[in-house]
Order: sequence, then C-alpha cells, then structure tokens
Amino acid sequence: MRRKVIAGNWKMFNDINESQNLISKLISGLNSETLKNEIIICPPFTSLSEAHKLIQNSVIKLGAQNLYFEDSGAFTGEVSARMLKSVGCEYVIIGHSERRTIFKEDDDLINKKIKKALSAGLKPIFCIGETLEERESGVTKNVVEKQLNLGLNSITEDNLERIIIAYEPVWAIGTGKTATPEQAQEVHEFIRSVIESKYSAQAAKVLIIQYGGSVKPDNAAALLSQKDIDGALVGGACLKAESFIQIIMAA
Ligand code: PEP
Repeated sequence: MRRKVIAGNWKMFNDINESQNLISKLISGLNSETLKNEIIICPPFTSLSEAHKLIQNSVIKLGAQNLYFEDSGAFTGEVSARMLKSVGCEYVIIGHSERRTIFKEDDDLINKKIKKALSAGLKPIFCIGETLEERESGVTKNVVEKQLNLGLNSITEDNLERIIIAYEPVWAIGTGKTATPEQAQEVHEFIRSVIESKYSAQAAKVLIIQYGGSVKPDNAAALLSQKDIDGALVGGACLKAESFIQIIMAA
C-alpha cells in the first residue's frame, strides 16, 4: 500500500516571523490521526534553516521550492543542492508550473535539476501538468507523457523510487478551479501506465503521484480517495495551519 504524502508549497509567502508562527501552529495541531501520512513543508529559502530547527522533534519534513543544477560558481541568485542539504532539506520541488511559465524553465533544465537533486541525496517532487488550452485541445496525455519522458531522461529505476510526481494541471493552480476527482484520477492512472512502460510494473506500483491544484479542505477527501492519487501538493491552503491540517486529516 502506498503512503499518502501531503506537501505544502509556501511559494513566496512568509517572512521569518510568519514562518515561525505557521510552523508552531502546525506542530501543535498535528495529532495521532495525522501521523499516518507523510507531511512536508516547503518554505522559501530564507526560512529553511529556522524551519529545520523548529521541526526537529516533529514528523514534519522539509523541502525547498527550487535549486540550481551546478554545484557552485558565479550563478548570482541561485541555490545549490548541497546548500539545501546543509539546511536540512530532504525534498525539493522541481519543475513547478510557475517556474516553467514565469521563469521559462524548460524540460531539459528540469531534467538537469532532478539529476542534481538525486545525486545530492535530495528527493525531487517533480511537477508536470497541462495548460487550459492544452486540455481543451485534447492533448493532456501527450503533454504529460512528454514532460515525463524529458524530465526523467536517463534516470534509472533505482533513482525513480526517490522521486514523487506531482500532477498539477496549470489551469487549477491558484485559480480555485480544481480538477474533478475523476479528471485527476484519469491522468494519474495514465502517468502510472507511462511509468510502467518506461520502467516496470513494480516501479509504477510504488510510485507516489500527488495531485496539486486548488486542493482545499472541502475537496481533499474526494481527490485523495481516488486509487491512483497518493497525496497532494498544496499551495494556497497550506498557508493557514487549520486548512493544511484539515487536508492532512482528509488523507
Ligand atoms: C501549487 O502551488 O503547487 C498549488 C497547487 O497551488 P494551489 O493549491 O494554490 O492551487
């Protein structure tokens, strides 16, 4: 049985004080029910080190929202995988649609970032998903398959076990429009089938595939009860401890 993994992407929200407040509310709100799931928070870079200290004795794990694929050098404004490890990160989000659209990250760059994360001992949360235009023109599966093939290019099955895929339809991110549980399930099942043909039935069976896109306390249970949906990548609703905890409870 696959575990449920709930990750909160804080995006560019929360300074250090706000981060401390949110983490302490989260820790005090978690109970034995919520412990069955894996819980990850992905604060901005500036809060990672402090977040790591605050979550020490809790079940919460730490992730970053991005990295650069070089080890070090003249790359102003970038952060390396080793730097993320040194502040206690276990996970890193790669290929988020905001990175793809606003910062023009392409599949080749995303593949380099995934490989660097893996070689540094970080677990990538690899985001894929179609735009509204792509969904409406009926090419969702082609888009997702291409993103998977290019993003996972030359990644072995051993390494795949350390990757979480997050299916995030771009039209559902931050818009309040959620894919229906059936729409999400259909794409998750397809992703699993692509992984089966690219790797193996076993790789597909154990792969964690999260859904992301306006997950809220009131739609989380229906989405998370689908057979191929193994968790959620949550944006807006993870910024309030109460709603993030309700989503964890729904899982
Ligand atoms: C996200 O940022 O990955 C996300 C899914 O955001 P939201 O939940 O706000 O749609």
